[in-house]
Amino acid sequence: MTITPLMPVYPRCGVRPVRGEGAYLYGEDGQQYLDFASGIAVNALGHGHPHLTKAIAEQAATLMHVSNLYGSPQGEHLAQRLVDHTFADTVFFTNSGAEAVECAIKTARRYHFANGNPQRHTLITFDTAFHGRTLGTISATNQAKMRDGFEPLLPGFAYANFNDLAGALALIDDNTAGFLVEPIQGEGGIRQASHEFLTGLRKACDEHGLLLVLDEVQCGYGRTGKFFAHELYGITPDIMSVAKGIGGGFPFGACLATEEAAKGMVAGTHGSTYGGNPLAMAAGEAILDVILEEGFLENVTAMGDRLRQGLEQMIPNHDHLFDSVRGTGLMLGLKLKSDSRAFVAFARDNHNLLMVSAGENVVRILPPLVIDESHIAECIEKLSAAARVYVPASDD
Ligand SMILES: *Cc1c(COP(=O)(O)O)cnc(C)c1O
Repeated sequence: MTITPLMPVYPRCGVRPVRGEGAYLYGEDGQQYLDFASGIAVNALGHGHPHLTKAIAEQAATLMHVSNLYGSPQGEHLAQRLVDHTFADTVFFTNSGAEAVECAIKTARRYHFANGNPQRHTLITFDTAFHGRTLGTISATNQAKMRDGFEPLLPGFAYANFNDLAGALALIDDNTAGFLVEPIQGEGGIRQASHEFLTGLRKACDEHGLLLVLDEVQCGYGRTGKFFAHELYGITPDIMSVAKGIGGGFPFGACLATEEAAKGMVAGTHGSTYGGNPLAMAAGEAILDVILEEGFLENVTAMGDRLRQGLEQMIPNHDHLFDSVRGTGLMLGLKLKSDSRAFVAFARDNHNLLMVSAGENVVRILPPLVIDESHIAECIEKLSAAARVYVPASDD
């Protein structure tokens, strides 16, 4: 037998973390890494944050799971807090980002069904989008690498170019349910929606009775310095998927919606065995306590500005390698002039700096939201040191 016990779907690197503390990870071999990947924008409070770990430990000892057969004081409380701080009137809790997007897709379809327009089932989505790995969410992207071999996929998606408002509007027809879009594409390469694009989609939804579904699984939950990225645009969605930072490492997600958009989601239409269980809710409450603390989001913005400044100042010294900086807050991308995966591997293996590669040869820099200036200085130092000695492969 040559297949590994862990299904070999990931090209895993040599770093084998066994412990974390704040912005640092420690490998099996004792190596220390500066973690500016944060489990891909998940570990919002870094590793081992005392408020989060205490909440999880206490809840685990009290009540971990019951079932959605029963009343949920824990779920009601967290949902109410999310409602109080967002556009939403109602929340469905999931166990992952993809499930949050699935719920968003179902909520959108069901809205038009409830309105007597079941033919309005198609969501317009965008190139280089990433919405997860379920059959529904891979159908919502046109990226071949995620779809190949998994056909037949789910019908009911049309694909436009990201940031091409006219192209998206041109796809609207009698079957259109709305738009599904990331305000800032993460996997796609920290591609940020232009103001004109996102506000234009909102306006089209209002004019045509369509739903704006935002996927804020990666860009939400404080990552940009706003609680949610759409606040940067002065618009609100009808439906929104959330995950990653919402649990700070505890696996869960949520689908938020307005009362109007959720009108089809009546008893019996959707469910999840684990979704919203007391343990997840305790993690969610703890994260929210910290993120909503006075000054927390302002500090994300301030640290984001500092990090961006540091990156921008570094570029001219290494302009054979670095092209530009993109993104907002602590969701930053460093665009390279050569293969980003190779450089991420080099910085990791030689300078103990963890980052994540993304589309368009962009290196994603996604530190925990609790970093301070010393971590930023260390990151810039490691990046500069790596850039000084790194030689891009000639065939890049
Ligand atoms: C990570 C991600 C998902 C999928 O989340 P999972 O928890 O891996 O299912 C969906 N949408 C976006 C924008 C993401 O970044």
